[in-house]
Amino acid sequence: MIKATINNVEIEAPEGTSILWAAKKAGFTIPTLCNHPDLKPGGQCGICVVEIEGIPGLKRACMTPVGEGFKVKTHTPRIMATRRQLVELILSNHDTDCLTCVKNNNCELQQLASIVGINVHDYSRSGERLPIDRSSVSIVRDPNKCILCGRCIQVCSNVQTVDALAVNHRGFDTVITTAFDAGLGNSVCINCGQCVVHCPVGALYEKSATEEVWEALHDPDKFVVVQEAPAVRVMLGEEFGMPTGSLVSGKMHAALRRLGFDAVLETNFTADLTIMEEGTELIDRLTSGRNLPLITSCSPGWIKFMETYFHDMIPHMSTAKSPQQMFGALAKTYYAEVKGIDPGKIVSVSIMPCTAKKFECQRPEMNASGYQDVDYVLTTREIGRMMREAGLDVKEMPDEPPDDILGDYTGAATIFGATGGVMEAAVRSAYRLVTGKELENVEIKPVRGLQGIKEAEIDIDGTRVKVAVAHSCGQARKLLNKVQDQIAKEGKSEYQFIEVMACPGGCVGGGGQSWGSNMAKRARRGESLYEEDRSLPLRRSHENPSVLALYEKFLEKPNSEKAHKLLHTHYYKRSTVDGKIKPAS
Ligand code: SF4
Ligand code: SF4
Ligand code: SF4
Repeated sequence: MIKATINNVEIEAPEGTSILWAAKKAGFTIPTLCNHPDLKPGGQCGICVVEIEGIPGLKRACMTPVGEGFKVKTHTPRIMATRRQLVELILSNHDTDCLTCVKNNNCELQQLASIVGINVHDYSRSGERLPIDRSSVSIVRDPNKCILCGRCIQVCSNVQTVDALAVNHRGFDTVITTAFDAGLGNSVCINCGQCVVHCPVGALYEKSATEEVWEALHDPDKFVVVQEAPAVRVMLGEEFGMPTGSLVSGKMHAALRRLGFDAVLETNFTADLTIMEEGTELIDRLTSGRNLPLITSCSPGWIKFMETYFHDMIPHMSTAKSPQQMFGALAKTYYAEVKGIDPGKIVSVSIMPCTAKKFECQRPEMNASGYQDVDYVLTTREIGRMMREAGLDVKEMPDEPPDDILGDYTGAATIFGATGGVMEAAVRSAYRLVTGKELENVEIKPVRGLQGIKEAEIDIDGTRVKVAVAHSCGQARKLLNKVQDQIAKEGKSEYQFIEVMACPGGCVGGGGQSWGSNMAKRARRGESLYEEDRSLPLRRSHENPSVLALYEKFLEKPNSEKAHKLLHTHYYKRSTVDGKIKPAS
């Protein structure tokens, strides 16, 4: 432990602790624009400068470890003047149109300008305005708001290992851009949105579909159905000032109904269905021994990453569509048939914690119903905005259930939103499918939590099944490299089943979550999903009565021909240069 003082307050901190974090322990928050608790410090913005007695110059608190006997000052007149000047310089090259900015009231630059006492309103831009990149179906990039903090590059390169973004040019001309300046939509970007949730300002945001959804809601000729992903129920409350991870399933249904949706249904229903399809696929693969390990396919960011960097593994992928897309295919077929609605009049909207889902719903193969299966995807942030616009406050809503037909769900479905949840749900049902008996203790703790790669061995009536779970594409890359190596050397992998989620923490850490997220918040949201699982009367997907009715009345059985047509998909090889589909060779 190191002893030092921060503004005359004595502190002790483990060796290697940065002055920034040591100061926090002493009760002083040093302002910063580039530092983020989940990323390595880069020292780009220089806002966190401090003075250390006896050491000349100002030091960046994020990059300087606290040393024995240090006497640190965090807000002397010199420091405060320097910070103010740095913020003024940033603002002199910034489109300061806060009132129309997506980050208004949630912007770290706006807060900092207020903290350091900037009180001049009219900063005329010194540089030329740059074009806004709208080439991606998921994400908009506005370089005129970028403060060059580097967080997006760090998360894209170091956490996701995608490397879609880089710094280009120097000095005043410095910009963050994509390869050949071709735009995110023409790059290897996997649409995960991790850059969006780490950006401190309004330079990155989702491509909004709120106008289109309002139009559908106001059109009396349309029947607008909505589905909500498992993770949204532990995120939406944050949009209305509720504590992180508040579970608002019932309030969410009530607010969506009041917003004007004609049917409030559940992605959780098709999460249960996914388990029936994927669990059956797992049993088939375990029986035949072919294409093991089976790898999950719910996360569209992961799918594009796999198609780009690991397309050799396509035969190992589950062919089951994600719950979002299974819902889309059923809403315009089974649901329309049961309810007697013309499927051409159905507008299918999904509420997702994810920006990559916007990409997934527009994939050309996602039209098994004869229409685009899911018409619009809204992130948790977008539906929060729509609800506020309609004068709704989720906090004040009563608890209401979802509608019938595609609304019932079990605890197994709700945990899909946390890393390890799909694996745990699949094991609960695979056990029953193989043994005919129920797994007594349904909680598979080794696959829970935020460790990068988790492993477990499950005993299914004498058959040992080794499973692994990875969250974030960086961890998936490590795991897949190991699997490929094992297959190359030994002809098979030690694992039989692998779950991958593109985002750190799983969907509770998706690119569509509320602003200001970090790993601690993601963990809290995951715990809330496990709480909902424990509170539900049914906790195994194969117990969902509406799923059983769907098979009985419409699909016949898991992996039937009809189920394959509607609920399964295929994958492509993509170029590592521009992420585009490669022509079949
Ligand atoms: S990024 Fe922040 S400071 Fe800039 S316009 Fe948006 S809200 Fe205002
Ligand atoms: S969306 Fe994901 S892959 Fe694309 S630039 Fe952002 S972090 Fe990188
Ligand atoms: S886009 Fe956002 S995260 Fe990336 S460098 Fe600019 S301000 Fe930072």
